[in-house]
Amino acid sequence: MKRRILAGIGVITLGLITSAIYDSIKSIPIWTTLKDVLYWIWNAIFCAEFTVWQIILGLLVLFIILIILNKLKGDKQSEPAFKSYISENIGGYTWTWSWKWNDTTNSWNINNLNPECPKCKTIMHYDFDYGLDLYKVNCPRCDYYAFKIKPYKDVEAIILDNVRRKRDEQENKKPI
Ligand SMILES: [Zn+2]
Repeated sequence: MKRRILAGIGVITLGLITSAIYDSIKSIPIWTTLKDVLYWIWNAIFCAEFTVWQIILGLLVLFIILIILNKLKGDKQSEPAFKSYISENIGGYTWTWSWKWNDTTNSWNINNLNPECPKCKTIMHYDFDYGLDLYKVNCPRCDYYAFKIKPYKDVEAIILDNVRRKRDEQENKKPI
């Protein structure tokens, strides 16, 4: 009889301990979250009910993303290397310019080509003097003045030739 009572107390105690452990585990948020995640994964894999249009929409979005990524990559590759070439010393003056795409000729053109003042680095006025029949420059800041300046067309031709030479150099460097 004593043994039975002891066994009974033992079972009840074990039951209480088990219950207490289960309750404490249940109250841990991580455990609940993990359980929810596992449940969600299980549901997503085996119980998902995607409609046809949802699948099509998903593929369409993926397709658009791929197109955009490809376009961005393409744009970067088509950017010519010479576009960073915007300054050069020609005929004793530092010339600066920018590159502009010409839709009519389908080519890059030199734009805003101007000499810098050798004294104060200001962009100078550059004009053709019909009376003297030569190009002249004058600085708007320090009044530096000079004539017999290299004609615009010659400076432009030298810049374009430099680009061509650089490109040929790069082409020759490429392994065959
Ligand atoms: Zn100046």
